[in-house]
Amino acid sequence: MQQIFLTGATGSIGDSCLDLIRQYNTLFSLKAFTAHSNWQKALSVIRSFSPAYAVITDRESYFRLKQRYSGDKTVLLYGMDEAVKLLCNESFDCVLNAIVGGAGLDITWHTVKNQKRLCLANKESLVIGGELVYSLSSDCDIIPVDSEHSAIFQCLNGESEQNIRKIWLTASGGPFWKSRIDFELVTVEQALDHPRWSMGAKITIDSATMMNKGLEVIEAHHLFGTTYDNIFVAVHPESMIHSMVQFVDNHIIAQIGETDMKGPILYSFTWPDRIENRYSDFDLFELNRYNLHRPDLNRFRCLKLAYQAGKKGTEKCIILNAANEVAVSLFLEGKINFASIAGIVENMLEKDLNLGQLSIENIKTLHKEVYSKTWEYYEKKF
Ligand code: NDP
Ligand code: MG
Repeated sequence: MQQIFLTGATGSIGDSCLDLIRQYNTLFSLKAFTAHSNWQKALSVIRSFSPAYAVITDRESYFRLKQRYSGDKTVLLYGMDEAVKLLCNESFDCVLNAIVGGAGLDITWHTVKNQKRLCLANKESLVIGGELVYSLSSDCDIIPVDSEHSAIFQCLNGESEQNIRKIWLTASGGPFWKSRIDFELVTVEQALDHPRWSMGAKITIDSATMMNKGLEVIEAHHLFGTTYDNIFVAVHPESMIHSMVQFVDNHIIAQIGETDMKGPILYSFTWPDRIENRYSDFDLFELNRYNLHRPDLNRFRCLKLAYQAGKKGTEKCIILNAANEVAVSLFLEGKINFASIAGIVENMLEKDLNLGQLSIENIKTLHKEVYSKTWEYYEKKF
């Protein structure tokens, strides 16, 4: 029985993971999980799975849950520091990091440091911490869960990095890749209406701006050691080819599958083995056409900004990521328009904000500084 630590259990990836644990209950068991503010959902996870530990990282929600939970099977803990202590001190076969945003950095960092298997959905932690994480060892036990990176990981299947000529990251393009809608007029509802995937709000907006693909380019650079000039994005609206690797001999291997995150999550738990898919089937004939298009970097400025930041290094990646997190939440709250997301990120990237020496503390400090500077910029300009 594999013992799973699921961080971000109350989100969309969290849901898929819990579904899998339910379906494969003789193989996987939920030993611990974290939630942030959704204490009601945390309570139902406790009731359904009776894990040994539940960590709530938002203070008020922790106290609310504590008032409601009267059982004694699950130990309730408060805060990210307790989550980190747990993952350092308890044994887990897999840590699935499904927290959204830079808030997932501690989990990524300490899982890798403690040499436990990290099943990584939280791409932002690699965007800001990838250089540091891989400075620990070039051979970290990180199994990507992001569908594109899971695809590349499967295509590589032990091939050496030297054999890669190009990585082809596919992108659905989100709801606006084809439409000529003016980005200033896009509503929150339209941006949240993703044509292929059902996901949390932040990544859905990132898909609409294509910042998601930008973050994934940086994620791929760290995971596979590929230079930015050799990472290409292809818009593939059907989202069936999850990504491709072109080798030095120009042979291309693609991974194809359904649009269901349970696939990459399950693979990250069972790798290097595969187990039978008990929850769905895949019909290749359902699709008789696979379209691939070049992305429009002038319209989707976030993707261009991400390439630029990636090439400049960790400092700019932290600024890109944190400014984007703030801008996306401002958009979701109806405070700025859709076009302003890229504008705010671009503006913040021009500011002289320094990381100093590469360390976990300095990454967290700069991440917070960019958050407050982006808020200041918003208050001044909007
Ligand atoms: P959701 O928004 O659905 O869930 C986010 C989770 O993170 C929730 O459990 C939430 O807790 C928790 N959380 C939010 N803020 C904090 C914080 N400050 N500290 C600790 N925990 C926090 O996101 P998704 O599940 O969609 O995405 C999770 C990650 O996986 C993201 O990095 C995303 O890019 C990546 N990913 C997601 C895919 C998808 O299909 N959804 C596909 C590929 C990658 P609570 O709700 O209790 O407040
Ligand atoms: Mg993805």
